[in-house]
Amino acid sequence: QREYHIVVLGSGGVGKSCLTAQFVQNVWIESYDPTIEDSYRKAIEVDGRHVILEILDTAGTEQFTAMRYPLSRLPNLSAKSLALIHPPRELYMKTGQGFLLVFSITSMSSLYELAELREQIRRIKEEDNVPMVLVGNKSDLEEDRAVPRARAFKISQDWGSVPYYETSARRRANVDEVFVDLCRQIIHR
Ligand code: GDP
Ligand code: MG
Repeated sequence: QREYHIVVLGSGGVGKSCLTAQFVQNVWIESYDPTIEDSYRKAIEVDGRHVILEILDTAGTEQFTAMRYPLSRLPNLSAKSLALIHPPRELYMKTGQGFLLVFSITSMSSLYELAELREQIRRIKEEDNVPMVLVGNKSDLEEDRAVPRARAFKISQDWGSVPYYETSARRRANVDEVFVDLCRQIIHR
């Protein structure tokens, strides 16, 4: 049985944990600890194949790592053990096979911040066609929309036809679709 490593990336507060929780556990979690970075497993069937997705819900910023694991309190841990507790970005970009690049449609800066992450992924994987999906989350907050759909779509096209989806973790809209699309890309690469 195949196992694929998926990494959920994006600025803090865009809904990475809520999306992951909806996909993996079918639950809406109103408020998630923003410092928690964890991985989850889910078995799905895609195009008649049974696969297991190992999904890393990242917590992004390095200062969170320092906050959770002050080195002074972990004096005896090797660099290797530390990396197991909280893999540095380079490591999970290296092992990740598919990437969910998540922003919030209510924040233009959250979209712009993805460009750098995407560059970093391409640099670290030394590959142009890394499986990715661009995800505009919080589509239920249409009245607060700051990113026109066409703007995000244009960026996804400039990135070499990366699929673009708008999701709502709150309403569980398009949640399965983004993970399945990514999984298909990995299978058919
Ligand atoms: P993360 O930092 O990217 O993991 O973001 P979280 O998943 O913790 O979500 C941050 C905040 O956005 C929380 O208050 C969530 O309730 C809210 N949120 C997440 N997804 C949605 C969504 O689809 N719609 C709405 N309205 N709020 C959301
Ligand atoms: Mg989170």
